[in-house]
Amino acid sequence: MIKVLKFGGSSLASGESFAKVKRIIEADQSRRVVVVSAPGKRFSGDTKITDLLYILHAHIKYNAPYTEVFEKIKDRYREIHASCGLKQDLETELINIEANLNKKTSVDYIVSRGEYLNARLMAEYLGYTFVDSADWLYFGYNGKVDFEKTYAALQHIMETHSKIVIPGFYGVNYHNNIKTFSRGGSDITGAIAAAAIDADMYENWTDVSGIMTVDPRIVENPKPIDKVTFSELRELSYMGAEVLHEETVFPVRSKNIPLYIKNTNDMNAPGTLIMESFEDDDKGTNFITGISGKKNYSIITVAKNRMNEELGYIRRTLEIFENLGVSIEHVPSSIDSFSIVVASSAIENCLHELISKINERLAPDSVQIVNEVSLIAIVGRKLADNIGIAGKIFTALGENDINIRMIEQGADEINIIIGVNDTDYKKAIKVLYDLANN
Ligand code: ADP
Ligand code: ASP
Ligand code: MG
Repeated sequence: MIKVLKFGGSSLASGESFAKVKRIIEADQSRRVVVVSAPGKRFSGDTKITDLLYILHAHIKYNAPYTEVFEKIKDRYREIHASCGLKQDLETELINIEANLNKKTSVDYIVSRGEYLNARLMAEYLGYTFVDSADWLYFGYNGKVDFEKTYAALQHIMETHSKIVIPGFYGVNYHNNIKTFSRGGSDITGAIAAAAIDADMYENWTDVSGIMTVDPRIVENPKPIDKVTFSELRELSYMGAEVLHEETVFPVRSKNIPLYIKNTNDMNAPGTLIMESFEDDDKGTNFITGISGKKNYSIITVAKNRMNEELGYIRRTLEIFENLGVSIEHVPSSIDSFSIVVASSAIENCLHELISKINERLAPDSVQIVNEVSLIAIVGRKLADNIGIAGKIFTALGENDINIRMIEQGADEINIIIGVNDTDYKKAIKVLYDLANN
């Protein structure tokens, strides 16, 4: 049995949190591969190391004195080093990093040092081997992870080392230069490591007891989701449930590795289990697994009488969006009209062109735009078994004076997307949360 664990920045912010992490790892002998983020916030208002490193890079790039920011960064690691009673030569590491800093140093190299140093410290603290992600996580020419090469490299390393700590967030590109994922990317490193070695489980340790049914910033103390499928999670995270980086799912899903979200501050809380499907799924109850949403969408509605008789009408409209590089979120349609839902930011600079091209090429009866729309995804693998759920949603929102701007059910019936005015966003989420729990 082998488990890969990833600890987020909030679980590694100080020496005290290192001690918690150690207790978790030592509680289970199969916890043999540990992926760490850079130290996060110790308290609200504190700054994450990664953010400080981005600031450091900006200082260097614009020739501003950077000693003060760099000192702040160093002190965070010194605190962990001292508090964990470590023996390694941290000062030399810091000097080596400083020696690499100049105007040409890439931002990826600089920010990656956050996880690099943390992994070095954690490895000694646990008595595990430090394995640099520059030595196994490879990006290909296309900027995407080269899975074949990466998996082979980590498998090879595991042949000679049974317990390792690896830094999250980065690997190397085809020139062997450090390249990072987008923010929050340590989650992906953990998933890739788990897939590479065919782990039995990927545990993602963070500061909440699992994925909540709704964003905890909107509903106080929402219930955690006990089980969620990969498809449901994908819908929820695409629409804003930001617990895991969006790309985390692919590697573990392809190898059917169960993924757990667990709380470092409450190690015995059950957390959330994420799998392809659940055999013991009880039908009927909890038809909504989770709810997430995002603001600032625009709905463009094109209407034309007897549109259904004109072959390719929708396709030709969509082509205009495509040619302008605007990606489309949803296309709900009826017989004589259809709507195109896009992020408002995506059409900001080309709205005029877009509308005139639609008018020119498709001669619609009307084109209408509604801005400031929020999309809310109601996600549940059991939605399909529940007749009348759309009706219940309409009723609940209507009773609370919330106007529904659009509604669409995904083809696989695991989600219903509704559009409401941005001003009703939070209220709508609360109403739907109550509906899900009654
Ligand atoms: P880490 O530092 O461990 O990577 P993150 O900050 O990336 O942690 O993710 C955990 C945070 O995600 C939580 O502290 C919470 O504020 C936020 N969050 C947003 N939506 C949800 C949700 N639906 N369930 C749980 N947490 C959520
Ligand atoms: N430290 C990086 C960030 O803050 C990566 C991560 O934490 O996952 O984005
Ligand atoms: Mg994260």
